[in-house]
Amino acid sequence: MRDTASGPRVLLKRLRELMQEPLEPQERLDRIVRDIAANMVAEVCSLYVLRADSVLELYATEGLNPKAVHLAQLRLGEGLVGTIAASARPLNLSNAQEHPAFAYLPETGEEIYNSFLGVPVLRAGRTLGVLVVQNKTMRHYRDDEVEALETTAMVIAEMIATGDLARLTRPGLELDLRRPVSFTGLSFNEGVGLGHVVLHEPRIVVTNLFNEDSDEEIKRLDASLGSLRLSIDDMLERREVAFEGEHRQVLEAYRMFANDSGWVRRLEEAVRNGLTAEAAVEKVQSDMRARMLHMTDPYLRERMSDFDDLANRLLRQLMGRGPDDVAVSLPKDAIIVARSMGAAELLDYPRDKLRGLVLEDGAATSHVVIVARAMGIPVAGQMKGAVSMAENGDAIIVDGEEGAIHLRPQPDLEAAYAEKVRFRARRQEVYRELRKKPSMTKDGVQVDLLMNAGLAVDLPQLAEAGAAGIGLFRTELQFMVASTFPRAEAQERLYRDVLDAARGKPVTFRTIDIGGDKVLPYFKDTIQEENPALGWRAIRLTLDRPGLLRTQIRALLKACGGRELKLMLPMVTELGEIAQAREIIDREVRHLSRFAHHLPTSLKLGAMLEVPSLLFQLDELMKAVDFVSVGSNDLFQFVMAVDRGNTQLADRFDVLSTPFLRALKQIADAGVRNQTPVTLCGELAGKPISAMALIGLGYRSISMSPASIGPVKAMLTELPLAELEAFFDDNLMAPAQGLPMRALLQAFADDRSIPL
Ligand code: PEP
Ligand code: MG
Repeated sequence: MRDTASGPRVLLKRLRELMQEPLEPQERLDRIVRDIAANMVAEVCSLYVLRADSVLELYATEGLNPKAVHLAQLRLGEGLVGTIAASARPLNLSNAQEHPAFAYLPETGEEIYNSFLGVPVLRAGRTLGVLVVQNKTMRHYRDDEVEALETTAMVIAEMIATGDLARLTRPGLELDLRRPVSFTGLSFNEGVGLGHVVLHEPRIVVTNLFNEDSDEEIKRLDASLGSLRLSIDDMLERREVAFEGEHRQVLEAYRMFANDSGWVRRLEEAVRNGLTAEAAVEKVQSDMRARMLHMTDPYLRERMSDFDDLANRLLRQLMGRGPDDVAVSLPKDAIIVARSMGAAELLDYPRDKLRGLVLEDGAATSHVVIVARAMGIPVAGQMKGAVSMAENGDAIIVDGEEGAIHLRPQPDLEAAYAEKVRFRARRQEVYRELRKKPSMTKDGVQVDLLMNAGLAVDLPQLAEAGAAGIGLFRTELQFMVASTFPRAEAQERLYRDVLDAARGKPVTFRTIDIGGDKVLPYFKDTIQEENPALGWRAIRLTLDRPGLLRTQIRALLKACGGRELKLMLPMVTELGEIAQAREIIDREVRHLSRFAHHLPTSLKLGAMLEVPSLLFQLDELMKAVDFVSVGSNDLFQFVMAVDRGNTQLADRFDVLSTPFLRALKQIADAGVRNQTPVTLCGELAGKPISAMALIGLGYRSISMSPASIGPVKAMLTELPLAELEAFFDDNLMAPAQGLPMRALLQAFADDRSIPL
C-alpha cells in the first residue's frame, strides 16, 4: 500500500530546497509547479495569484500553454479558479467542464483536461491565490491529495507574503496582499496618526515549516496540547476575577475546543504530511478562518475568535514564548491594531512610540479608550476586519476625526494626511497660546477647566495643557496596571508625586473605583456577577473590604500632609455610604494624629454623582458633602439603561438628549441652592459642544482629558454665556420645533461663530 504521507513529505522537502536556491522568482515558481505536478502525478499544475484589482492572474503553469502565463486571467468569482478564491474552499471535480462555473480560457489549452483540483492559497484567513492540478482522465482526487495540495499552497502563501513575487507584477498592478484598504468605524479619540502597524496580538510568524520526523513532531504537538489543556483547566479552577462571567464562558469554550477531536485530527494529519507542529496549527487555523469568514452567524464568528486565541496560545506553547511578549522591536511610529484590549495592556507599550490605536471593538468610554485619551493618542474603533487585513509593519493612517483608518495608503492620500498633521500642529500652537488667556467666557464668567488623570505618565500634561488642576484622579489605574496590590508606600509615593506635580493647583483624588469593567486579576475576592456594572464595585466593594480603603486613605492623608486633601467617593447610591466612609476617614485621621503625623491642612469629602438614585435626593446629598462631581459616563449609562461598553449601542443614544440635560441642570441648580460646588468629570466635559452645554446649564468647573482642554478653551473664550443661558431658558423644557438638542446647540454655535 502506498504511504500517503510520503508523497507530500518528499514534495515539501523538495520545496524547501527550491525556496533556498538562489533563483529568480519566475524560475522558482516554474520549478515549484513542475515539481508539484510530478509529485501528484498530474499533467497540469497552475498557480493563480490574486491582484489588488480582484483579478486572478496565471503566474506559473506546468502543462498549460506557457504563453498564457501573466496573460490568462479571471475575475474573483469567475470560473472555477475565481469561485475557489471567492469561497476560500477547494473544488475537487472529476469532470470540470460540467461544472456550472467552468469558464473556458482558449489561451491556456486546458480543454483536454477533465479532472480538476483547486485549493485556495491562504494566509491568516485571506485568499492570496489559487493552486490547481488537472488530469486528462476523469478521476476524483483523494482526501489526502487535497490535503497535500493545501499544505503546498501554504508554502506558496509564504512566498507571496514575503514579497518574493512583487517583481513579477506588471507596472501599475499590485498584488491583493498590498492593496490599500480603508475602514470606517467610530472616532474614540481625536487626532491623526501616521505610522506603521503593530498587531497587538501578532500572528506568530511560523518560519520553520517542514518537520524532520513526523513521529517526533506529533509527540511535540501532543505534549503542547497537553500543557495547553492543563493550563486552561488550571485557569478555570483558580476562581480569579478575570475569569468570571463572560471570560469564564470563553475559557469553557477553549477547553471544549482544545479537546475537539476533529481539530486535533486535522493538526496531526498536517504534521504527517510533513509540516512542523507550528505550521500545522497555522494551516488548520487559516483554513478554518477562511471558511468561517463567510459565516454571518455572530455566535459562530465569535467562536472563531475564541479558536484564534486558542491557536495562538498553542503556537506560543510550541514556540516557547511567554504570553506577555510585547512587540520587542516596536517601530518609533507604532499604531497598535487590536481586536480588543485591556487598559493595562495599552500601558505596556512605550508612550513615546505610540502614534495611534485601532480597535475592532470598544466604545468611547471603555477604559482602554480613556487611557489612550489620557496618553493623547488618536483612537479609531469598531474597525471590523482590520486585524486580518493588516500585516505588521504596514503603513497605516488613523483618522481619529472621521473615525477611519487607511491601510497601506496611496502616496497622495498619505501626503494629504501629512498636511493635516501639520495643520493640527499649527492648531496646537494656537491652543498653547490660549493657555495664557484667562479661562473665561466672552462675557467674563470664569470657568475652571481641569484635567482627568490617573497615572504618573499623565502629570507632565498638567502644565502642557494649561489645566487649572486635576478634577479627577482615578486612583484605580495604579491598581489596574500592577500585578499585585500596590503597597501602601507605593500608593503614598504616587499621591505625593501628583501633588508635587500640581504645584498647589487643586487635585481631587477618587478612592479606588474597581469592579464592573475594571478588574484586578490578582484580587481573589471577586464574585461571579450577572451584571457587573450594577454589581459589587467602587464604594460598595471598598466599604465591604475596609482594609483596602483604610490603606488608601492613610496613604492619601500622609501624602497630603501640610496640604489640602480633596477626596471623592465613586458610585455613591445612598447617603449612608458617605457616612460610613467618613467614619473610616475620621478613624484614620485620629490614628495618624495619635502618632503625630503631619496631617492635611483641610480635608474635603465629595461624592460622585453617577447613580440616578441621587437625583431624587439632591438637596440632602449637597448637604452631606463638601462637593459633588458628576460622573457622566456612568450616570448616562444608568439613566439611559445603556451599557457604556456595548459597541452595538455605542451610537444609539445622545448624551446631549433633552432628558439627560435636564437632569444635569437639576444637579447644577441644587449645587447653587446649597452652596455646594459641583463639577463634572465624565467624557462629556471634553467635547466643545457638550462642554458648551454644561456651561450653559450652570457648570463652572469641568474636568476632561488633557487633550480636550485646548479645544474647549477655544470654545469658552468665544462663548457669550448670557445668550446661551437665554437659549436654555427657551429650549430646555420645550426644544424649538421639537428639534434634537444637539442640532439646536450646533446652530447656536454656528450663528455666533463659536469654534466647536
Ligand atoms: C464617570 O463615570 O463619568 C467617571 C468619570 O468615572 P469612570 O469613567 O472612571 O467610571
Ligand atoms: Mg464612573
